[in-house]
Amino acid sequence: MYTFNYHHPSSLDEAVALFEGAADPVFLAGGHTLLPAMKQRLQAPSDVIDLSGVPGLSGIEVSADSVTVGALTTHADVAESAALQDALPSLASLASGIGDAQVRNRGTIGGSVANADPAADYPAALVGLGATVVTNRCEIAADDFFTGMFETALEPGELLTAVRFPRASRAAYAKFPNPASRYAMTGVFVSAGDSGVRVAVTGAAASVFRFAEMETALATDLSPDALGGILPPADDLLTDMHASAEYRANLVNVMAQRAVASL
Ligand SMILES: Cc1cc2nc3c(=O)[nH]c(=O)nc-3n(C[C@H](O)[C@H](O)[C@H](O)COP(=O)(O)OP(=O)(O)OC[C@H]3O[C@@H](n4cnc5c(N)ncnc54)[C@H](O)[C@@H]3O)c2cc1C
Repeated sequence: MYTFNYHHPSSLDEAVALFEGAADPVFLAGGHTLLPAMKQRLQAPSDVIDLSGVPGLSGIEVSADSVTVGALTTHADVAESAALQDALPSLASLASGIGDAQVRNRGTIGGSVANADPAADYPAALVGLGATVVTNRCEIAADDFFTGMFETALEPGELLTAVRFPRASRAAYAKFPNPASRYAMTGVFVSAGDSGVRVAVTGAAASVFRFAEMETALATDLSPDALGGILPPADDLLTDMHASAEYRANLVNVMAQRAVASL
């Protein structure tokens, strides 16, 4: 590591002021992405602003029509919350499949969503449910939030404070995990409700995406059979040491069928 300034603000305003006053600052949540990146010198911030002392950023609130998860809420808390398991079991189940116990005990929903790793699980739930990202400045629809690989609509210094999910009685996530990290080699989140069917794919492309062709097929026949033969073009997908684009295209279909089968 190298020298940097560590800050532990006790309010949201203080965190934002520290960010605005620093040369090359970064917020710290669970540290499961930021700290490895710093150790490998992929990132070298001048100031690290630890959010753990900022009140009001963690916790789960369930209302009649939505579930709001604070940015600092860990994956373990999402997975194990009885209220959330009851209100939105698909989200609790998704969180229970992230990484391993150590990752789930430190990693946070805000860090995951702000980081926008193309293989992260939460982006599929946000887009697949039509969630809303709440920041210290505004609210952003999930459809508009993920703008590219590790890129989001957050402006520099903008702090993600919570994610609000609409409740959905029929929703499910299926992923093919990388056997080492458990990140999604491909994951598909499907929901069906009053506002229609949503199909969101993570892990397969540079950023999470909605798969309109599957949504149209499922709107008239909400069954795995309706998805037979529907694959995204491999040209649009990722090839890396773990899987080719063609393999991922097939995984999209298989994972989508599994998700629909468990709706
Ligand atoms: C071994 C391993 C396995 C993993 N497996 C999976 C997996 O299977 N699935 C999966 O989805 N993820 C996986 N992850 C990622 C992990 O779950 C975390 O979600 C991820 O590391 C980011 O969350 P964090 O809280 O640690 O964020 P940090 O590392 O603290 O921050 C990440 C980035 O987000 C920014 N940030 C953090 N919080 C905020 C905020 N509130 N507002 C604005 N910006 C913010 C930081 O400045 C930083 O740039 C894995 C990680 C590891 C190390």
